[in-house]
Amino acid sequence: MIVDLHCHSTVSDGVLAPDQVAYRAHQNGVELWALTDHDEVGGLALAEQTALNLGMTFVPGVEVSVTFLGKTVHIVGLGIDYRSQSLIDSLRYVRAGRWQRAQRIGDALAAMGVDNALEGAVPYATNPELVSRTHFARFLVDHGYCKTIQEVFTKYLGDHAPAFVPMQWATLTEAVQWIQQAGGVAVIAHPGRYEFDALQFDHLFTSFKDCGGVGIEVVTGSHAPHQYNEYARVAKRFGLEASMGSDFHGPSEGRLDLGCLPDLPSGLTPVWNRWLS
Ligand code: AMP
Ligand code: MN
Ligand code: MN
Ligand code: MN
Repeated sequence: MIVDLHCHSTVSDGVLAPDQVAYRAHQNGVELWALTDHDEVGGLALAEQTALNLGMTFVPGVEVSVTFLGKTVHIVGLGIDYRSQSLIDSLRYVRAGRWQRAQRIGDALAAMGVDNALEGAVPYATNPELVSRTHFARFLVDHGYCKTIQEVFTKYLGDHAPAFVPMQWATLTEAVQWIQQAGGVAVIAHPGRYEFDALQFDHLFTSFKDCGGVGIEVVTGSHAPHQYNEYARVAKRFGLEASMGSDFHGPSEGRLDLGCLPDLPSGLTPVWNRWLS
């Protein structure tokens, strides 16, 4: 079965509209699909309707931005009720600081010689409440400042780069509770991307379990292939179910296209067993 439980649309920082993501997933053979936009559920009704028309099993999702030990961690919620008013309100609260942060990113880029970056990035953001670093990155690439999005993060916007503006997102406990209260299950997104030491990782995984988290992404486009087995071991050690998703943002971005994922390493419990009839 072809499964993809992590990707983005124009409702956050993807380049395809929710229905276009559904069409592409279906074209690539995906049978069980989740759309997981950052801090926003506004694309799920259209995604669901399109997926069901195409005969895919749809899992409503979201990727919540969290600050843990001073660093950004992403928590994916799967199987959520996207009509839940408390979830909608909580996500709006997470998005609230983004505009001010975007202005500060624009100022920081100006100090590095990139003029009018905010004005440049805004047209890339289809959702005015969700101007993200990805939108700045696309502007910088299209205007010749860098060759690739990856290079933008290295030179300008990444966590150690000069135009990085720190944010206080949701707490881990909040994110897991919001997801649970909306009937969903919480999954740690792309753990291999976080720059924690061994003790900090243990703290993340145990805190996540303690507040009710159930899963961890093992196979993701945001992991290098050698990390699949590493996080398979973590899943087993902490009794976490395994998830997989491309983290697709657009046809010419990222490492993996929708549905183009290898199988999970053996001996894991797929989190998606819950949605198989
Ligand atoms: P933001 O939520 O505004 O901080 O933007 C985070 C988004 O930027 C992530 O969801 C990714 O899509 C993208 N991103 C973060 N780090 C990188 C990176 N090193 N290379 C490419 N894209 C990245
Ligand atoms: Mn993103
Ligand atoms: Mn993420
Ligand atoms: Mn993502």
